[in-house]
Amino acid sequence: MLDEFLQRARVAYFSMEIALRSEIPTYAGGLGVLAGDTLRSAADLSLPLVAVTLVSRHGYFRQELDAEGRQIEHPAPWDPAKWAVPLDAKVAVRIEDRPVWVGAWQYVVESDLGGRAPVILLDTDLAENLPADREITHYLYGGDQRYRLKQEMVLGFGGVRLLQALGFEIEAYHMNEGHSALLGLELLRRFTYPKSELRPGESPYDLPRVRQLCRFTTHTPVEAGQDRFSYELVQQLFHDEAPGISTLPLPLQELQQLGGREALNMTQLALSLSDFVNGVAKRHAEVSARMYPGYQVRAITNGVHPYTWTAPAFRALYDHHVAGWCHEPELLMRAADIPDAEILAAHLEAKGALIERVRQATGVALGAQALTLSFARRMTAYKRPELLFTDCARLEALARRWPLQIVLAGKAHPQDEEGRRLVAYLNQQVRALRGKVVAVYLPDYDFALAQLLVSGSDLWLNTPLPPLEASGTSGMKAAFNGVPSLSVLDGWWVEGCVENVTGWSVDSAADLYGKLENSVLPLFHGEPGGWVRLMKGAITRNAVYFNSHRMMRRYAAEAYLR
Ligand SMILES: *Cc1c(COP(=O)(O)O)cnc(C)c1O
Repeated sequence: MLDEFLQRARVAYFSMEIALRSEIPTYAGGLGVLAGDTLRSAADLSLPLVAVTLVSRHGYFRQELDAEGRQIEHPAPWDPAKWAVPLDAKVAVRIEDRPVWVGAWQYVVESDLGGRAPVILLDTDLAENLPADREITHYLYGGDQRYRLKQEMVLGFGGVRLLQALGFEIEAYHMNEGHSALLGLELLRRFTYPKSELRPGESPYDLPRVRQLCRFTTHTPVEAGQDRFSYELVQQLFHDEAPGISTLPLPLQELQQLGGREALNMTQLALSLSDFVNGVAKRHAEVSARMYPGYQVRAITNGVHPYTWTAPAFRALYDHHVAGWCHEPELLMRAADIPDAEILAAHLEAKGALIERVRQATGVALGAQALTLSFARRMTAYKRPELLFTDCARLEALARRWPLQIVLAGKAHPQDEEGRRLVAYLNQQVRALRGKVVAVYLPDYDFALAQLLVSGSDLWLNTPLPPLEASGTSGMKAAFNGVPSLSVLDGWWVEGCVENVTGWSVDSAADLYGKLENSVLPLFHGEPGGWVRLMKGAITRNAVYFNSHRMMRRYAAEAYLR
């Protein structure tokens, strides 16, 4: 069972995906990496946090590229027994008129600074369940609406019940995105006014009490991106013939007041049930506040985990020059005094590791002297990965003048047709540029590949369509490795960009080529001292702030301790 130390957790952090380590494919992108960094910082800072997620035994997927550069998806199974210990608690959630049993595994995030944080991985693949129910926790973001709602029932209802069965005394429930909003309904079931205190027609649910327990972090700056389920589906899955044990703790009309009239909107439900709501960057909080009039949406800008996202060569450099940086990344302001030659040497080591990985994966030999421009992220329309290829003649002209090489990577969600089209399109561009511009597309972008890319590139490119990038975090990872960003002013970059100091802002494709031609390439190839100044700018002005320790200290002080 849980040891006493881990059981002292008082904050429960619920997330559909968590990137715990490269070998555990229970994440799809930035949301999961953020959840993982949240746990890693909680462990470093000894915050009493327990995470709850699904075990996703078949993972997200492994990406292969076919001869035409189209994405092929393979299952990415993992064995929880290898990394986690089974817990003997079990709870039932009624779905479609039958009990679905939910068991759990415990994974422990261990900090190099000595702290630990438990992660509860919910699992319905139990002998007592029907075959279809055993699959509910198999596929991350797989299946149809019905499958997804079942997953959210297991996460929200099952998660809260399991924490109780394990003996946790939770004082704050933190919903990382709306997927776990049903946990609030479970709490409504738990906290009702005594019948004797109610007047006829009064609702028995102690809404203020539930709100006081819930915190909600939204990540979706557009309505189209919100998680929504029809009430017809809700009634089918929540329905129960047996009196008194319905999964729906309150009448449908009251649920509609909380979760939206037309459909059950999980963002709306989470907003209704939380008394602390935040967006993940200042710009994103402003956009969200306009989307949800009447709600106060605060801003806690995301951050990344210092040790995890710093390449070995930079870890060694910081250990030597900035003792204590892993606990207080603010100290990295002192990186300004590290000799330029040592910064360059550390970067060349990180760049060498990326060059080696590219050679193994594609056979292409990148140059150690050429400027490596990288774009790696979830491939989906709003990220606009095609912007760099708007005018390939211009790109070729740049590459004739200055050594320049391009590294791309990213998975598209299997059901995102536009995203899959973009993967194929980028691969076509890579091929069309052959002999003119060195460019590669690395398959299967994941945690480990991200570590190599954010540290081994020279410049980190991001071109989302504002205001759709709620935060973005990969540029923050790059900053820990002295890699500046060239990025559209959206999400975190609105706060992080100091023009010519931490990197550059960019808006249109023409502006992108202009910045490369007039600012980036001449500085990189012509003024090594000037380039190191920029590398140090990324470290001393971005890494110092955009880290998950600062983020978690803020969540602890402002959201959890209320
Ligand atoms: C950091 C990371 C992301 C998120 O990057 P963005 O900049 O937010 O797009 C996605 N996938 C992986 C594997 C990551 O490491």
